[in-house]
Amino acid sequence: MSKKDETIIEIPAAIGVRDLADLMGKSPIDVIKSLMTNGVMASINQQIDFDTAAIVAADMDFEAVPEKEDLPESEEGAEKLSAWRQAIANEDKANLEDRPPVVTILGHVDHGKTTLLDAIRNADVQAGEAGGITQHIGAYQTSLKGKLISFLDTPGHAAFTAMRARGAQGADIVVLVVAADDGVMPQTKEAIAHAKAARVPIIVALNKIDKNNANPELVKTQLADNELIPDEWEGDTMVIPLSALSNEGVEDLLEAILLTADSMDIKANPKGDIVGTVIEAEVDKQRGVMATLLVQNGTLKQGDIVVAGGAYGRLRAMFDYKGNRVKIAPPSMPVSVMGINDVPSAGQVFGIVDAERQARYKTKEFLENEKQGKKENASVSLEDLFASYQAGETKELSLIIKADVQGSLDPIVGEMEKLGEGEIGVNILYAETGNIGENDITLATASGAIVIGFNVQAEVNARRLASNEGVSIRLYNIIYRIVEDVEKALKGMLEPTFAEKTLGKAEVLAVFPISKVGKIAGCRVRDGVLRRNAQMRLTRGADILFEGEVSSLKHNKDKVNEVRNGFECGVGLQNFHDIEVGDILQCYVLEKEEIK
Ligand code: GDP
Repeated sequence: MSKKDETIIEIPAAIGVRDLADLMGKSPIDVIKSLMTNGVMASINQQIDFDTAAIVAADMDFEAVPEKEDLPESEEGAEKLSAWRQAIANEDKANLEDRPPVVTILGHVDHGKTTLLDAIRNADVQAGEAGGITQHIGAYQTSLKGKLISFLDTPGHAAFTAMRARGAQGADIVVLVVAADDGVMPQTKEAIAHAKAARVPIIVALNKIDKNNANPELVKTQLADNELIPDEWEGDTMVIPLSALSNEGVEDLLEAILLTADSMDIKANPKGDIVGTVIEAEVDKQRGVMATLLVQNGTLKQGDIVVAGGAYGRLRAMFDYKGNRVKIAPPSMPVSVMGINDVPSAGQVFGIVDAERQARYKTKEFLENEKQGKKENASVSLEDLFASYQAGETKELSLIIKADVQGSLDPIVGEMEKLGEGEIGVNILYAETGNIGENDITLATASGAIVIGFNVQAEVNARRLASNEGVSIRLYNIIYRIVEDVEKALKGMLEPTFAEKTLGKAEVLAVFPISKVGKIAGCRVRDGVLRRNAQMRLTRGADILFEGEVSSLKHNKDKVNEVRNGFECGVGLQNFHDIEVGDILQCYVLEKEEIK
């Protein structure tokens, strides 16, 4: 999105007449007139193709260029290539420069994430580099020996995963805080799963070594059990003993971060296209919408017009984490900005445009796509797996496995690993005991994984989230069935299963013979709703006499699509006329089963 001639407009393969007019800042009437002179009769809401739009644009002294293709899939299985990585991939290698690493801190509750973030921030302040008062803007920078490190300071998996779920890889490095007196706990394991799924390296901060009951050696064994082999044991995980409370070892951690960063390719083009991620945003009573933006490529400047999902605006002012006003923000620098018209979501990728009308067009398009539920979804279901494999989209099946006891978890994991030796690999992101919770679903959403439960329940919130995000949950109580289903899915043989969902019930109060049609059941709906396009079952006592489609549904002689509880209606059944007073009609639909 570098500066371009304002007369160049990007147009998708098809565009509405009104949208095209908006894009050029013209009246839709003028566009319709131009279409007419070119022999095309189109209404304001009609879609026209790129070539037609380009002719109209040329008439109006604009040059139409095809809109950039959607981002390609990454090499790495189902994971989406994040927008900024794509921006960097598009850069000429010669223009790439080192940028500060962006670090996020994860770990179990009370292990000291907040204390560590404060210790690092204060260490910098004590070094006499402080300008204004340190503000909480969701991210800050610190320096060691003249090298900058950016920290995201909203600890926790939710923030990290929210970014990944939107395709924005927020952090380059994860610092995993593990308390030396408590060891590896469930959220520690979750954090490991998150970092691994994101393919982000982990440095362990072995915190609270000042405590009497600290047992660093035991924790290292636990880490090794979770595939984080400490470097002193010839592994490749740096484990830094420290005390966030006394500051001991905090500098060693920063050094470890810089060392890790040196071994990675942490680069960006400061002069390139601007891409970044929204870290957080809120409405400030005095200043309006304040958003923290992390620049990941290019250099953001005051006055730029930012577009972040459904929000946009010209940046009136920018502040660093100390509250100092800044005019520019180079790669990896978080800035708090004023001037955006609405609160964008955390994790939203942002870019800039040349003119406000482009911004209006892009945000409108984003909001419309969102309304139509067209948002990109990385999640897969077992049924779709083989199809997406054949289409070259999936190279492995990612699983999150929850079971009631360790004794059943181990054999399931073992069986899944065996299955993964075939053409499509199986990647177990996380396997733990316990019910399926929201955290499992967020991890699945961000990684395109399926959640498998054995003898456990899916919590209500988790189910709701799963259904919103399109994450597949499958519950089993026989291990053999899991193996069978996954095996079938990997071979492309899994038939979707259907579950019946009852919509409503009605009682037949009268039977009307109608010539040519046969018999119509005069009913009263006793429960729920009857729908014309649903399935119907007719029962008499314990006998099921009919199962099939509805041929007609009427209320007060009018054809209707549905009749609700308490109302009377006339129901015709497809090719079935053996209806008697007292029969019960049951209306249901068959839904593809995701949750068993
Ligand atoms: P979080 O939930 O991971 O953010 O944990 P906090 O940073 O809130 O820390 C939880 C508790 O552990 C607080 O009471 C801290 O004071 C304490 N704590 C954190 N780091 C250390 C440490 O290095 N040594 C000791 N003794 N206590 C610590």
